[in-house]
Amino acid sequence: MSKIIYKTAEEIELIRQSALLVAKTLGEVAKIVKPGTKTIELDKLAETFIRDNGGVPAFLGFHGFPSSLCISPNDQVVHGFPGEHVLIDGDIISVDCGVILNGFYGDSAYTFAIGEVSEEAKLLLKVTKECLEKGIEKAVTGMRVGDIGYAVQDHAEKHGFGVVKELVGHGVGVKLHEKPEVPNYGKRGSGVKLEEGMVIAIEPMINAGKAGVKFWKDGWTVSTVDGKPSAHFEHTVAVRKGKADILSSFSYVEEVLAKNN
Ligand code: MG
Ligand code: MG
Repeated sequence: MSKIIYKTAEEIELIRQSALLVAKTLGEVAKIVKPGTKTIELDKLAETFIRDNGGVPAFLGFHGFPSSLCISPNDQVVHGFPGEHVLIDGDIISVDCGVILNGFYGDSAYTFAIGEVSEEAKLLLKVTKECLEKGIEKAVTGMRVGDIGYAVQDHAEKHGFGVVKELVGHGVGVKLHEKPEVPNYGKRGSGVKLEEGMVIAIEPMINAGKAGVKFWKDGWTVSTVDGKPSAHFEHTVAVRKGKADILSSFSYVEEVLAKNN
């Protein structure tokens, strides 16, 4: 059984550097997330940008994963392969990115709307991002992992959306996936106690329809059972007293999106 790896203040600053490179990479990706772009082009751009900035793509080769980004359009939940899929108006596309920089891991994901998307998809993106924010609010000392899960699940289900249970958030920093697991569901006051020095990836995966997912024979791709869209937002977060410290950032992505709209 692996144990929770508590980080020093210095280590958390190094994880922040790595998570910031993830954030900037997603910002670069945002510049070409538009109709006509192939998802493989996003992957190439990300890999080049990460390496040019002294990092290593954390997903590439992880348990044999073939790419630098996980790119999951529409009904794909997570772990999709970049490839020949051409983005079209109305798609939603989840982009998950991990980086190793100076030996430390950052992990963050953003779901983009391509052009004009359905009202349902719009609401799904808004609510999933709010789920992440509500989870982060609970990432403070004295709370428990179940408080994060409860906050995420409660907000998603209030809107009639399905919470993916088979995949969870995780400790992060020294490795890509550490203890504890951080589920997007749970009971208040249950599970591992959150303490200073813990760094976790909180990552709600929320389906517009039912919660059920299927695992593809490619060994990676996960999609919704009912074919409805799914969204995924993720931040790397340090647990603190009073208020969580978000080490990754959507500001680079959102600056680009604001310019394009
Ligand atoms: Mg991720
Ligand atoms: Mg993650």
